[in-house]
Amino acid sequence: MTDNNNSTQHESSIPTLQEILEERVEACWYAPCSGSANGNPNEINNEDQLNGWKEYAFLTETTSFGEYSFNPAAPVAILKQVHPSPESAQSVVCQLCPKHCKISEGRVGFCSARINRGGRLYSRFYGRPTSLAIDPIEKKPLFHFLPGSPILSLGTQGCNLSCKFCQNWQISRPLPANESLNRVLEPEKVVQLAIENRCPSVAFTYNEPTVWCEYVLHVARLCRKSGIKTAVVTNGMISEKARKELYETVDAANVDLKAFTPEFYRNYTNGSLEDVQETLEFIAQRTNVWLEVTNLVIPTLNDSPNEIQRMCEWIVNTLGPHTPIHFSAFFPTYRLLNLPPTPAETVIRAIEIAKKTGLEYAYGGNIPNEASQSTFCPSCGEKLIERSRRYETKITPALTERSETEWICGKCERKIVGVFK
Ligand code: SF4
Repeated sequence: MTDNNNSTQHESSIPTLQEILEERVEACWYAPCSGSANGNPNEINNEDQLNGWKEYAFLTETTSFGEYSFNPAAPVAILKQVHPSPESAQSVVCQLCPKHCKISEGRVGFCSARINRGGRLYSRFYGRPTSLAIDPIEKKPLFHFLPGSPILSLGTQGCNLSCKFCQNWQISRPLPANESLNRVLEPEKVVQLAIENRCPSVAFTYNEPTVWCEYVLHVARLCRKSGIKTAVVTNGMISEKARKELYETVDAANVDLKAFTPEFYRNYTNGSLEDVQETLEFIAQRTNVWLEVTNLVIPTLNDSPNEIQRMCEWIVNTLGPHTPIHFSAFFPTYRLLNLPPTPAETVIRAIEIAKKTGLEYAYGGNIPNEASQSTFCPSCGEKLIERSRRYETKITPALTERSETEWICGKCERKIVGVFK
């Protein structure tokens, strides 16, 4: 990391983190999820609730998934019309994720984050986070990427899935018109905050970063110039074109693999297992992005030993046995209140299955078992990184730097994968 206060041009106008957290933006930009329009299930129709949309910040760049331009005088982020609908010149098809919403004039897509105005598609939450915090990087979770470091984390609004068990539904789903959580935070200020708060990395998290991809790309490019790494915490539902550009730009990803059956994805998330698998495969095989996987284990829905074993076998064969997997315990929330919390034993059983299947780093989350959160050498069992439930992390002397990019177990010299500095 370059701890350099001269790296951005707006030092005097940079608010403190506390000021930003306290700031409230009065304009309301939300579209409540009030059903579909024109028979398109991926479209939300409530134009009245979109007052203030012109107040968004602007960006100028061309991505592989659309053209958009930045104009500070006209504050809206834009993704230009990319595929005119044959039925109506005013409809646009969003190219950002596999839902490919066809969006009529004045309406927003399934995620509520993108709106059609005058035949052009605009990003509604560019530069407008709802959530901002400095987290331990272990909370993302990322266990083999800058362990023990703080990560500046931000999220905006909207999601291209609608999981019944969403833990962040307050920001992933559209809000009523009179509720606004967004703050203003320009990309340069994100970098500045990371520097001021000595965060070596920035995470795009809390809600799905794909649906605010322009802001992610802009921040990530600025971070890279300043020596700050970036990570996405994502559901993996992203189009082929956008995925290429995104994963050329960020350094790490934790991808949710929510289950290993198409039925679960269809019935509980409104997504597609196949699309997520494609993204995982792409990251592991065609990029240099550091990849970890999270699986939320939900009683009766995706916790069968057989399903977990099939998922682990696929990860070993497709992503590689070195891919860290995090099994996390479910707690009843949002629209899935009828199921009990996941017993710790179920998470431990999943870890055992993963290890027997050949995965070298399998972890437990949301359970009172600190051993399941520490990193051990896959060959000799030496403890390399010790973690507590409160995300306190201690790298033991056994994790040894062999070269700038290679780390080994000091006891048996086994290579330990990850980005450790
Ligand atoms: S990002 Fe996905 S869900 Fe959102 S408008 Fe585009 S295609 Fe639809």
